[in-house]
Amino acid sequence: MKIALIMVKGNVYGFKNRSFIFKYMPDSLTLGTLYGIIKHSFPEIEVEIYDETVETLKKENIKADLIGISAITPCINKAYAYADYFRQQGIPVFIGGVHATLNPKEVKEHCDAVVKGLADETLPQLINDFKNGALKPFYEQNPDMSYSNLVLPERKIYEDKSFLGSELNMVYATFGCTNRCGFCVQPYVCGGYHQRPVDDVISEIKLIEDDYIEFIDPNLAKDENYLKELCQKLIPLKKRWFAPLTISVCKNEELLDLMQQSGCEEILIGFESINQDSVKGINKGFNRVDDYKECIKQLHKRKIKITGSFVLGLDSDTKESLLSTADFVKEAHIDYVRYTINTPYPGTEYYEKMKSQGRIVEDDWNLYDCQNCVFEPVNMTAQELESIFKTLWQQTYTLKNIFVRLSYIKNPFTFVKDVVTNYIFGRIYINMVLKEKSFIKKIFF
Ligand code: SF4
Repeated sequence: MKIALIMVKGNVYGFKNRSFIFKYMPDSLTLGTLYGIIKHSFPEIEVEIYDETVETLKKENIKADLIGISAITPCINKAYAYADYFRQQGIPVFIGGVHATLNPKEVKEHCDAVVKGLADETLPQLINDFKNGALKPFYEQNPDMSYSNLVLPERKIYEDKSFLGSELNMVYATFGCTNRCGFCVQPYVCGGYHQRPVDDVISEIKLIEDDYIEFIDPNLAKDENYLKELCQKLIPLKKRWFAPLTISVCKNEELLDLMQQSGCEEILIGFESINQDSVKGINKGFNRVDDYKECIKQLHKRKIKITGSFVLGLDSDTKESLLSTADFVKEAHIDYVRYTINTPYPGTEYYEKMKSQGRIVEDDWNLYDCQNCVFEPVNMTAQELESIFKTLWQQTYTLKNIFVRLSYIKNPFTFVKDVVTNYIFGRIYINMVLKEKSFIKKIFF
């Protein structure tokens, strides 16, 4: 028996226009995890992976008895096209991922089975049912699923697909989130917030050859005691690491010290807005705008770099408040900055609320990519919001802005290295986000 697993590429940055630089960077653990789960329960099954984010996919060449597709909302229409094609060939298809979890009935129209939530327990059930000719329409994660002794992902599945660094160095320590920030799908992914035992996480990290670990938890600092224990046990491993965290961690100096000692080099913080009413309006009022600069100082003091993420088009945002963000990130010395357009994802309460207000203006899921405005903003038009989005990306990655943002770095060698890296990062993202051919792209890509 043979199963093909497909990750679909779509119109969202990081998932399109891959340059040769990005080709070696699969940014998801999904296929590795699914591969590991199948092989753990069914070592005899042949599993092939097709990751469209790192390779060209020719659907005509895919031959299998069963096909699994994973896709996020802006890629789901393409997933449907693939699923429809394979089903026409007589091959049963199952679809999983965030969109499938949030919109199972819609997804079921295009496949034989929908996998909701994490697939650790449901995928083996699904395969057994398939073998017995009794595939069910929906497979839903058990809310009491244990997060101890999870099957580990297969980290070398990209070995023959990319020409640089093929080991997946991503790790989950925790899953989901109990906060309910409007635009975020994480509270829905696996029903709340769940922790793996720290010792399980440490054992998994010990198996990773790379000395750089990327935690891909939505919020590794959700439970500060958990993070503290994790840091303490990471110290002897001498790894370097990255993680997304909320700003609240900056109030805990003991924890920040431990993060530094355990090799934390960079974190991603969802600042979301420099307008306090805006963050409050999406249930993220625990982000205190007045604390942002001090938080950044505390991190830099410990040589931890920051990627700051901002969501544009929240209900209290004005054109002026948004446009002043480029100056704020410069003065606050945020190392890397990402802007996205507020996107109410279908299946969330936030989407339903906007829909009931008659503010959803676009139902083409391809456009739910955080680069297009799919709703009616309060204090500006959708076109004005999209224009501000482009302006902010451009203003933030001018050499002048980068120089000022990174001027806190005292070591001249590090400063020059980081300016160059920052500039290249900016040009690549501007090219992907704004679909413009950048100076760097003209030269190198
Ligand atoms: S944005 Fe962060 S804190 Fe808010 S719900 Fe999502 S993961 Fe949790």
